Amino acid sequence: MLWCFWVVVFQKLMVGEIYSLVAFGFVPDDVCKSYTLEGTQMSYVFHRHCHATLPIIDKGEGVYLFDKHGKQYLDACGGAAVSNLGHSHQAVKKAMLEQLERVPFAHTGFFTSDSSERLAELICQYMPEQFNHVYLVSGGSEAVESALKMARQYFVESGKPEKKQFIARQQSYHGNTLGALAVGGNEWRREPFKPILHPSHHIAPCYAYRYQQTHESELDYSLRTANELEAKILELGAENVMAFVAEPIVGATAGAVPATQGYFKRIREICDQYDVLLILDEVMCGVGRSGSFFAFEQEEAEPDLVCMAKGLGAGYQPIGAVVANDRVYQAIADGSGFFQHGHTFMAHPVACAAAVATIETIFQDDLLTAVNQQSVLLRKELTSALAHLPYIGDIRGKGLFLGIELVADKESKAPLSKATLADKRIKQRAMENGLMCYPMGGTIDGVNGHHILLAPPFIIQSHHIDELVGKLSLTLKEVAETWK
Ligand code: PLP
Repeated sequence: MLWCFWVVVFQKLMVGEIYSLVAFGFVPDDVCKSYTLEGTQMSYVFHRHCHATLPIIDKGEGVYLFDKHGKQYLDACGGAAVSNLGHSHQAVKKAMLEQLERVPFAHTGFFTSDSSERLAELICQYMPEQFNHVYLVSGGSEAVESALKMARQYFVESGKPEKKQFIARQQSYHGNTLGALAVGGNEWRREPFKPILHPSHHIAPCYAYRYQQTHESELDYSLRTANELEAKILELGAENVMAFVAEPIVGATAGAVPATQGYFKRIREICDQYDVLLILDEVMCGVGRSGSFFAFEQEEAEPDLVCMAKGLGAGYQPIGAVVANDRVYQAIADGSGFFQHGHTFMAHPVACAAAVATIETIFQDDLLTAVNQQSVLLRKELTSALAHLPYIGDIRGKGLFLGIELVADKESKAPLSKATLADKRIKQRAMENGLMCYPMGGTIDGVNGHHILLAPPFIIQSHHIDELVGKLSLTLKEVAETWK
């Protein structure tokens, strides 16, 4: 019996073959060891991967991180698009210390705070005028969960309780809590939890490199892809659909894929026509990373709810936010007057102080200009160093949010075999070479494809870009030898 049980478990794990094993942390020895700098010391931390030993972080200086052995890593991905001000920004640390001196925490059921009030006001200053209310939480998944529940409560309070379905896109990622995971369209992340996820619906991503046809104009492709939303709404019945959720630039799962021109304009029209809210997830691409403070500013569409996190606190504190437009806020304010949600650490005063200092720094130091300038340089250097290589399919993205898609064949765009473990091996080798980048597998459909995401700090200088591109080229050359 016991034998049968393990066979079944093994078979279940084999779904998606080796990829699932990797997803669950069973990585081959040579890849595991890549993270091992500390030998086989016992750890009581329940790490992301049970069998990988990580270097221990010691300190951060500007765009560099240093481990306990003094090894230096150029942070080319901000961890996961978080550290937009680098790792030792004095203004943010000072703001946090000042807040700590005054009061570290006061529960939002009893008090508001100067730092949360200031943060919400500051965020609204950079939003269109119909956005005047910010719900502050502690991270990206919490922001998305809050937005989903806000959408539901909006329709309940507006007398449309039958609206209960979300539509999102295949290959999107909106977080790992059950609600956020349910709307996300990344198959391997969802797979083991599917039976306990709320049913949600997915349409095709806007992913021109893969799906725009040769004889199709960009606009025709945008309209064809956006119109899938209309078809899905009609299939489900508009009276049942609450919201469409999308990342303006798809980050972790697809590798910095921006929408094509006209896509979000058409999406907005469809949402308006069928009384469906538009929730934009700017957890990764927001707070200046795309070259504008909000990525949607570069689209011809305004959302109803926007989720933020990651770069909002620049990694100095965990923080997230949902910015609600007046229509959503007012329905709740004029109805029950109470958003039925909440977390103990929401609007944490120290996190809010860090976020205020982060935003002020971005504007005082004109870092959006820096993002746009360094973006041009980074793209240029990446293109001249990598574009000719037979396994580089696409270099894309906006601002300092760039993706490199790897392929086995440039012409056919056939992906590298999963068995190359290209993402794991690139991450490992890059770390050995003193570079942090963010590779991922499953780019195309959650199983096939590989990409590398780059999201360096906004303070990156030209000589750092030379170092980044040099180390990445070396890493790719070394790893490509293993998949020949
Ligand atoms: N939404 C997007 C677009 C993300 O990229 C992420 C994280 O990568 C999340 C939500 C979830 O954020 P967190 O990991 O802070 O919960």
